[in-house]
Amino acid sequence: MSRPAIAHIRLDAFRHNYQVAKQSHGGKALAVIKANAYGHGAVQCAKAIEKEADGFAVAAIEEALQLREAGINAPILLLEGFFEAAELPLIVAKNLWIVIHHVWQIEILLMTKLEKPVQVWLKMDSGMHRVGLSPAEYATVYARLSAHENIAKIVLMSHFSDADNLNSHHTQQQMAVFKSATVGLDSEVSLANSAAILGWQQAASDWSRPGIMLYGTSPLNVNQAHLIKVDLTKAEAKNALRPVMQLTSRIISIRKIAKGASIGYGSIFTAERDTTVGVVACGYADGYPRSATTGTPIAVDGKMTRLIGRVSMDMLFVDLTDLPAAAIGSQVEFWGDQVSANAVAESAGTIAYELFCNVKRVQFQYSDTSNLK
Ligand SMILES: *Cc1c(COP(=O)(O)O)cnc(C)c1O
Repeated sequence: MSRPAIAHIRLDAFRHNYQVAKQSHGGKALAVIKANAYGHGAVQCAKAIEKEADGFAVAAIEEALQLREAGINAPILLLEGFFEAAELPLIVAKNLWIVIHHVWQIEILLMTKLEKPVQVWLKMDSGMHRVGLSPAEYATVYARLSAHENIAKIVLMSHFSDADNLNSHHTQQQMAVFKSATVGLDSEVSLANSAAILGWQQAASDWSRPGIMLYGTSPLNVNQAHLIKVDLTKAEAKNALRPVMQLTSRIISIRKIAKGASIGYGSIFTAERDTTVGVVACGYADGYPRSATTGTPIAVDGKMTRLIGRVSMDMLFVDLTDLPAAAIGSQVEFWGDQVSANAVAESAGTIAYELFCNVKRVQFQYSDTSNLK
């Protein structure tokens, strides 16, 4: 038998979540599948929603070409546009859309002779202060691009820094800045990421850009939910999301240690009672976070227990003291159906996005129940 660490990717859940995102926001939805679909497999995910997707978004041309080679003909947006002029002929040939976020890109774009005009998503820095044109220069640049033969359609876009924080005024401020800087510009608009789709109905526009919610995880801090009046349909959308990745492995060793004994590297866990310890074939080299602390939720044969001790490269420990039925070969779920990726992330001082992106070395098994005949 081969090593039992497996990422089960449920493509029917991915397709379902895309529908939830699209319906919840309204309009068209670009499925954000950058970084290998947040670690889930970009080609498989794109194929799973090929029929319904309005388009896809990735971070780099290499990711877009991989999708084109797999036969994906839908629109693909490059979220950072191009990094050098040499990419432009391929961008045109492969019919890719580009974000323009800085003046240096505009100079190159307008200087280059293109075979066909290209569709541009003109990004404004409405307050995140990462990339994007300033609100002050935005309309001028828009006019310059609109008049140029290299430019097909222009979509007006911006990105939120704090949409996951429902108590922050930043999102409303960004919307106001965007609105006033785009007065009179007659183009489609794209603002909402997953957090805005779920939490900020006012941010709805022509195009949404859902990422993390497609993988079944809400970016909203659940602890804030009581502080705000969440729109009912949005709350339902959040509840309707289905986890796409289930990361599992199996117990490969069980030992009993006496109260006072410690386990693993650094001996950071000392048993406070006689303890049954399960050793599981998964470690930080597989993407399970080394920073996860004792007490991180984990499920064994469907029953909740906790991680104990230091996660090592290939193995980790679970507390089996209260799970007498657990045995060598028992299935362990790290996140997926019983254990939420958000809970693990919180316990490891990170976010579910990073957990997903880090999954590697494990076997990827794809299923799509709605395709079973
Ligand atoms: C990654 C990204 C998204 C998707 O964000 P989520 O929080 O995963 O929904 C949307 N827009 C842009 C510009 C991005 O870079």
